[in-house]
Amino acid sequence: MWRPLSDKMMRFILNTIFNPTFQLKQVFNTRKQFREAVHSHVIMTMRNIKITSNDKTRVYAKCMAEGCKWRINALRVKDEATYQIKEYEDKHVCSIDSHYKNINSRWLAKKYEELFRLDPNRNVKGFRVEAVKEIKCHVSATQAYRAKKKALEAIQENPDDQFAQLWDYGNELRERNPRSTVILKQSEEGSSTCQRKYDRFYVGFKALSQGFNAGCRPIIGVDGTHLRGTFEGVFLTAVSFDPNNQLYPVEYALVQTESTDAWEWFLDDCYTFMSDKQKDLLKAFERVFPGSDNRFCVRHLIGNMKQGV
Ligand SMILES: [Zn+2]
Repeated sequence: MWRPLSDKMMRFILNTIFNPTFQLKQVFNTRKQFREAVHSHVIMTMRNIKITSNDKTRVYAKCMAEGCKWRINALRVKDEATYQIKEYEDKHVCSIDSHYKNINSRWLAKKYEELFRLDPNRNVKGFRVEAVKEIKCHVSATQAYRAKKKALEAIQENPDDQFAQLWDYGNELRERNPRSTVILKQSEEGSSTCQRKYDRFYVGFKALSQGFNAGCRPIIGVDGTHLRGTFEGVFLTAVSFDPNNQLYPVEYALVQTESTDAWEWFLDDCYTFMSDKQKDLLKAFERVFPGSDNRFCVRHLIGNMKQGV
C-alpha cells in the first residue's frame, strides 16, 4: 500500500534511473531498482564499480580503483520491500576509464524504450549513432540491434501487465505533485479482469488549478473522447483559456463510460461551461451546478447537423 514518506526520507525519482543522483536516506522501491541505478552510475561515470554484497538485507557497492573511497550501502527497510541508502561516499579520486562502461543491450533497451514507442520503425543504424552521441561510449551493431528488439518486445508485452502499473503511476503522481488530487477508483463489476481493475481515474494537478485561478477566464470547456485501445473507456477533459486566449488544461479523467454519473463525478466547481451538448453532460451540469451557464461548441453543432442528428 502506498504511504507518504517522512521528511527525513526521499524516494528515488524513477525517471532518473539512467543517470541517477544518490544521496543519504534515499529510498528505492526494490532491490532490483537500486541495482539498476548503480549499474547506470557505472555506465555514466565510467568507473570500475562492483556490487560486492547483494542479499535480502543489503546491497553494497564500491569503487575497485586503488585508493578510491567511493562506496554506497543500501539496507532493506524493516517489514518492507524498499531499500534505503545508509552509507554513501560520493567522491571518486580515481580517473575515468571507458573500459568500465559495462554497457549491454538490456540497459540500452530500457533507456531507449520511449524512443521506440514513439517510432517503432526507427532504424538500428540511426539509433546506434544517437546512443553513442548521448552516452559517449562504444555501442556495437549487435548491441544496437538487440536493444531495439528487446525494446519492441517490452512495448508489446502483455497489456494486462502494463495496465497493472496504473496504481504505481498514481502513487508517483501523488508523490511528485504535492497537494494535487489523484483518484483511482476500483470497479466492483465488470465482465473481464481488465474492466474490474479500475472504474475511474482522475488527475487534478495543483499547479494547473493555481494557474487557472490566477490567470484564466472563468470559463471551462469539457468534452469526452472514446479510447480505441485494448482497455477502451472514455477520456474526459476540462480546459480553459489563458490570458493569451490559448487552451489551458485544467483537469482530466478516465472513465469506463460517458454517463451522467461519470460527468457528475468529474465536475466539481461552478463556472460557465462549454460543451458538445452531450445529453448526459447537460444533466450532470444541471444536477451539480444548478444555475450555471452553458454554451455549446459550434464546431460540434455543425458536425451534428451535417449528420442529421
Ligand atoms: Zn573511484
